[in-house]
Amino acid sequence: MAQVEIRRISKTFVGHTAVSDIDLVVNDGEFLVLLGPSGCGKSTLLRMIAGLELPTLGDIVIGGKVATRLQPKDRNVAMVFQNYALYPHLTIYDNIAFPLRVQRVEKSKIDQKVRWAANLVGIESLLKRKPRQTSGGERQRTALARSLVRDPQLFLLDEPLSNLDAKLRHSSREELRRFQDRVGVTSIYVTHDQVEAMGLGDRIVVMKAGKVRQVGTPKEIYGYPADTFVATFIGSPPMNLVETGPVTVGFRPELFLPRASFEPGAELMEAPLRIRRIEYLGGDRLIYGTVSSSLPETEVISRIPSSIPFDGAEGEEVAFAVLTEEVRRFDSETGLAITAPNTLVRRAGHV
Ligand code: ATP
Repeated sequence: MAQVEIRRISKTFVGHTAVSDIDLVVNDGEFLVLLGPSGCGKSTLLRMIAGLELPTLGDIVIGGKVATRLQPKDRNVAMVFQNYALYPHLTIYDNIAFPLRVQRVEKSKIDQKVRWAANLVGIESLLKRKPRQTSGGERQRTALARSLVRDPQLFLLDEPLSNLDAKLRHSSREELRRFQDRVGVTSIYVTHDQVEAMGLGDRIVVMKAGKVRQVGTPKEIYGYPADTFVATFIGSPPMNLVETGPVTVGFRPELFLPRASFEPGAELMEAPLRIRRIEYLGGDRLIYGTVSSSLPETEVISRIPSSIPFDGAEGEEVAFAVLTEEVRRFDSETGLAITAPNTLVRRAGHV
């Protein structure tokens, strides 16, 4: 296990800056998620930590040791990619044993390690099979076990679940999280899927165009986004944003509810919602519409759980509201959050 320090790291490919001046500390035993849209530089950052890419500027310190120029094999780091290429002609057992055989580890020790790793990821009954006789999720776990047998001090995972179907992804995510809790190895996980990031991360690093926009726990990032990019990248549907001159107000769809559903006396920001469309999602209803009155006319969404009665119809105007304390404020020009004292916002670069 190890702490990882990323010190003012930048990476420029010919004429293109993929990662720009990132400072970050990953705590010992932490599960940190790098989240951002395609091309934001998250894989490049991970590859620099793995030693597969040399930073243009800055240093990477793993377990107190400057590792910037160390070969991948000298970093004691395990990397699991989306394409975790198992050897098709080898059994699951031999696939897991492979890195130990390369290291010429003693046979009885190999056996012990393979069984330990297979047991940890729950594939001990599959050891005699070939990869093609197993499911996508089981292959994924085999790749995980294979990276485990070397006792890495750091796990690097680049979208390892992205070629699994939705259901398997969900269960594999849970498994991965439970597994990391058990093993306690510091892990850095790259994804562009915000649901995955929210479910997995102790903390999330939100990136855009090579820069860190915010670092925080899922709760902090969701509740107190540092800027309008984070506010709309996290959450589905995203946070509603309504520009009111120099200040843009933001509120989550599930907190923007019919006026009648609030306690009398509650401090509210109210807005009439002209309903354009209603979508039934089973447990929830999504209400698409526009707000106006004191606010400029803007498209917004409300997410109403089925526990709250609502009989509004398309074309009608209904009183809606959000608790004042749940309204977030952003500078309309810069997009940055305007923070009241004592809020939990953590700005980009501050850990
Ligand atoms: P994705 O989710 O699509 O994998 P990402 O956030 O992981 O995206 P990176 O793969 O880190 O993004 O790429 C960041 C930027 O750097 C992209 O614009 C990409 O085109 C560029 N890039 C990555 N590798 C190279 C390279 N070897 N040479 C030139 N440009 C590169």
